[in-house]
Amino acid sequence: MSSQTAQLLDGKALAQRIQEELAQQIQTLQAQNQRLPGLAVLMVGDNPASAAYVRNKERACQKVGIASFGRQFPTETTQAEVEQAIQALNQDDRVDGILVQLPLPDHLDSVALLNQIDPSKDVDGLHPVNMGRLVRGEPGLRSCTPAGVMRLLQEYQIDPKGKHAVVIGRSILVGKPQALLLLEADATVTIAHSKTQNLAAIASSADILIAAIGRPGLITADMVKPGATVIDVGINRITDYEGKSYLVGDVEFEAVRQVAEFITPVPGGIGPMTVAMLLSNTVQSYHQRRS
Ligand code: NAD
Repeated sequence: MSSQTAQLLDGKALAQRIQEELAQQIQTLQAQNQRLPGLAVLMVGDNPASAAYVRNKERACQKVGIASFGRQFPTETTQAEVEQAIQALNQDDRVDGILVQLPLPDHLDSVALLNQIDPSKDVDGLHPVNMGRLVRGEPGLRSCTPAGVMRLLQEYQIDPKGKHAVVIGRSILVGKPQALLLLEADATVTIAHSKTQNLAAIASSADILIAAIGRPGLITADMVKPGATVIDVGINRITDYEGKSYLVGDVEFEAVRQVAEFITPVPGGIGPMTVAMLLSNTVQSYHQRRS
């Protein structure tokens, strides 16, 4: 066991630096009287967590100088109406990025809607074209959360090359693209999920352990190899016995930080990195669409 507590991987500080760099780039465009990058976040319904995420993304856009073209639709909006909105944004030259905030109300087919987004504006990297590029190792827009994890590892010079990376979670949003990005970075990758047997044994063989599950405290200290890097993607809202509510990850932070070498906090780890990657993807898409 390591004799010291783990070093924190400070996603909040890095995200802020990335945003400052983007703001500078955008200021230069503004000084040259160029069009500014634009992002449209579409939200349907009134899910309070989604509303908070959308507000957060729009605030971040405003901070760096990205123009917002977001739209909010009532819960009963039809599939055709959202499709029309996406088509209009696909055609709109002021818009470089389109993001549909998930989850959508049950009557909407989210896969069909995501497939409508022009792949060159798919800043969430969820379109089959961008997913396919990721599988093939070709350049393209990468999903924001897994891209944020890779950027944070890079910042702290944690090179996945040759390491055993275990990703727990196999969603399209996080787990699968995360595993592919680690593979691209030459890690040996294992994907674990809800049907995995002997999760503790697999997790504790990881040099880099990524938890993207959505179960508070599922990863305990005995599941972590001493000296491992632990990335906690999970965001769970829990309420304590006094009725106070707060956010925690999937990792038992206090116990695991006694074992790991590096660990991300929740909040302040991967959450802010996800927003920074969204802004960065929007600026990347802006430059590619102009070239
Ligand atoms: P999801 O529900 O789509 O997927 C969860 C995955 O966890 C599934 O693949 C499932 O197989 C696996 N799983 C569930 N129970 C398990 C168990 N007992 N053992 C092993 N595996 C198990 O969720 P998601 O969209 O991938 O999100 C995962 C978590 O990450 C959530 O807490 C979510 O809020 C969070 N998240 C955070 C960010 C961020 O910006 N930090 C972004 C997206 C998602």
